[in-house]
Amino acid sequence: MSLPYAPRFAFYDGKRQSGTSTSSFQTIDPATAEPLANIHTTTHAAIDSAVVSAQKAFPAWSATPPIERARILQRAAALLRARNDEIARIETSDTGKPFSETSTVDVVTGADVLEYFANLVGGGGMNGETAQLRPDAWVYTTKNALGVCAGIGAWNYPIQIALWKSAPCLAAGNCMVYKPSEFTPLHSTALAEVYAEAGVPPGVFNVVQGGGDVGAYLAKHPSIAKVSFTGQVATGKKVAGSASGEMKYVTMELGGKSACVILPDADVDQAVDGAMLANFFSTGQVCTNGTRVFIPEAMKPEFEKRLLEKMQFIRPGDLHDPNTNFGPLVSKPHYDKVKSYIKHGIENDKAKLLCGGTEIPSWLASHTNKAYKNGYWVQPTVFTNCTDDMKIVQEEIFGPVMSILTYKSVDEVISRANNTDVGLAAGVFTKDLNLAHKVIAQLEAGITWINTWGESPAEMSVGGWKQSGLGVENGKKGLEAWVRNKSTLVEMGGAVPTVFAKL
Ligand code: NDP
Repeated sequence: MSLPYAPRFAFYDGKRQSGTSTSSFQTIDPATAEPLANIHTTTHAAIDSAVVSAQKAFPAWSATPPIERARILQRAAALLRARNDEIARIETSDTGKPFSETSTVDVVTGADVLEYFANLVGGGGMNGETAQLRPDAWVYTTKNALGVCAGIGAWNYPIQIALWKSAPCLAAGNCMVYKPSEFTPLHSTALAEVYAEAGVPPGVFNVVQGGGDVGAYLAKHPSIAKVSFTGQVATGKKVAGSASGEMKYVTMELGGKSACVILPDADVDQAVDGAMLANFFSTGQVCTNGTRVFIPEAMKPEFEKRLLEKMQFIRPGDLHDPNTNFGPLVSKPHYDKVKSYIKHGIENDKAKLLCGGTEIPSWLASHTNKAYKNGYWVQPTVFTNCTDDMKIVQEEIFGPVMSILTYKSVDEVISRANNTDVGLAAGVFTKDLNLAHKVIAQLEAGITWINTWGESPAEMSVGGWKQSGLGVENGKKGLEAWVRNKSTLVEMGGAVPTVFAKL
């Protein structure tokens, strides 16, 4: 049977490697549950070859002047922009996210980061510091590339994650072996081809395909200097454990259960818009989602009334229709997981179901594309009268499931928002900016917003606190995660200042 997309293989030495696999699996269109492409799992021997390819490329790439690397990466950013819609369509097929999202967010925010790091290193971002100790003695520092690095990505923002990892990695002079999630691997070859066309030398950016086993092999590989991982907390702990045990550098971008705090003076309409953005964008499959929505007790009736009215503006349907703003969940296992949380919320936690639930969405029965009824579609769901001890309030669901909690005082809401072992993101909605800053200062999270949610520009360093991760991506600090420091003291006094001189 011919499939919509060409098979995916490993990519190293600057080209697709079709003889590197002994088994394959299929990537599935979440909207219809139909196969999209055959993906050939990279063997351990071929992973070794990808690492060797990167090792061979490293000396020349790391010695290339930053401004020349910058020019090549800027060309890649321009190619990504020129192919925005084509790549966005691939992402829509693979992830199930509407084209209205992938064409405006996924590729764009990846290309922006590539351009940002290219400009940063081209503009002196790799320069170190100097310190004059005495008139004839100086300390200078240099930033040095790490070597061959591994990038392991999650399935929710495939090309964006691949770019957020590879852009600073390559800009700093490293080489990368990248493993996409087995659920969304299609973008990986498209990105490798863009880099190659832009002039990135063979071996600098490489791809291996497969599941957790491939990721684990790569993360443990003795020739890998750093592992940058995006995924679940539990997987991140395993990966960080095996990598840091070998003194590899690690960056961990992990899960969360973020608090979206509506302060007492907030405009109700704005608060509802914010809470919806924090819960239903990308069908709730965003790591920073504000799934614990805290509202003042007195605001609850009006908030829920307006929320129910605005829930009508969530438009599932044909993913390529520009008006569609809600897609299916990414995969069958994830669909089962999210539905079991909704069921648990109803039957065990006994939260009040305000809307949504586990029933198959009613619009599917009359949809023109009959295959859609096989897809992983769920209803956007809101639970209210929630309490902090409920499982749906405590655990990351990673789906379109909002939990509404009420509070009496600002001090109380801060303490309850922080009462979790994760700390990825948090945000407040209010007209009182003094209060906003005071509350934000007390929230234990690495990424915070005031009167908005979810925007994560290239300039903004992002990373989780507590169990949500280690290190940051993006912004100036994002480059530091891909270099190691060397400090050199230069003595120019003309004589070695020895303590062993003749008395
Ligand atoms: P997983 O942890 O399941 O997988 C992440 C990646 O790790 C995948 O490529 C996966 O491969 C791979 N992997 C699985 N097991 C291992 C292993 N033992 N060693 C090495 N690699 C392994 O996460 P999900 O893909 O389910 O992603 C969703 C999670 O990612 C959520 O928790 C979300 O919050 C988090 N996330 C965090 C972000 C952040 O910036 N903080 C951003 C986006 C998502 P495969 O998929 O093929 O099994």
